[in-house]
Amino acid sequence: MSIQENYKQIKSRLPENVQLVAVSKTHPVSAIQEVYDLGQKVFGENKVQELAEKQPLLPKDIQWHLIGHLQTNKVKYIAEFIDTVQSVDSEKLLNEINKEAAKYNRKIKVLLQVKIAEEESKFGLEISDAESLFEKFTNGEFSNIEITGLMGMATFTDDENQIRKEFLVLKNLFNKLSLIHKLETLSMGMSDDFPIAMECGANSVRVGSAIFGKRDYSK
Ligand SMILES: *Cc1c(COP(=O)(O)O)cnc(C)c1O
Repeated sequence: MSIQENYKQIKSRLPENVQLVAVSKTHPVSAIQEVYDLGQKVFGENKVQELAEKQPLLPKDIQWHLIGHLQTNKVKYIAEFIDTVQSVDSEKLLNEINKEAAKYNRKIKVLLQVKIAEEESKFGLEISDAESLFEKFTNGEFSNIEITGLMGMATFTDDENQIRKEFLVLKNLFNKLSLIHKLETLSMGMSDDFPIAMECGANSVRVGSAIFGKRDYSK
């Protein structure tokens, strides 16, 4: 199927209230433009350099989400235009995003990335650390940041029960934090597991290969 057909098919599977982040990493700007022309405005990339190269070549009303690990020394390359950083996994990073956003007199939306997978994963906050960062935010620290939600990735496995269990951990935390301060976005689910994520309460999904096809990292 073509990229356009893939996109329409994925869109038809998402209810109105679920945001689609089209994950375009490794794919050329021409492919992104094709999907944009069908009405898609939200795109996700996982590498700062790739994003910073593509962004100037594409329409300015695209809302870019960074979904991959972000090093503090690279925040400055995206601070002027990034809509949402989905992968905030430390206080140091939150401080840096806040500082860089202030330089442009803007607010950057962030999601706290929480470690929910049972498998060894390098990135993501422990639940207790996410809670304490959120508390600092609600106490008024980080004036140039808006924490709008949570992001998580399930274990890479065929075991749907395992995946569901992990997503529900994040949904529970989302509900708990929502009692303290309004949260908008629960970002869970990728090409292979977004239907399960939606069952578990995700209202934003990050879909790459099911739209753009397989990624070729050799190029
Ligand atoms: C690449 C990536 C995705 C999309 O993965 P697909 O399986 O291609 O849909 C989603 N989230 C993150 C954090 C990613 O790095």
